[in-house]
Amino acid sequence: MIAITCAKCSRRFTPTTEEIRAFLAASQGQKHARVLCPHCGRDNKVALERLREAVRFAPSAPEATVAAPAKDATSESA
Ligand SMILES: [Zn+2]
Repeated sequence: MIAITCAKCSRRFTPTTEEIRAFLAASQGQKHARVLCPHCGRDNKVALERLREAVRFAPSAPEATVAAPAKDATSESA
């Protein structure tokens, strides 16, 4: 989840994972994505890094294009 504060109306909103994926897809090759505020309909510039982080930790990831680091933590000792 990611909370975005609209720069125009100062209200907060949280785009869904699907929406974020769409924003990422629509802004490839750029540094910022244009995220529409549901309150006032204006677009906000949001760093793609933030969006990527948001979908990265999303519970359901249908596409596994990102090479995730090894999941097993072997550093734990009893
Ligand atoms: Zn707004």
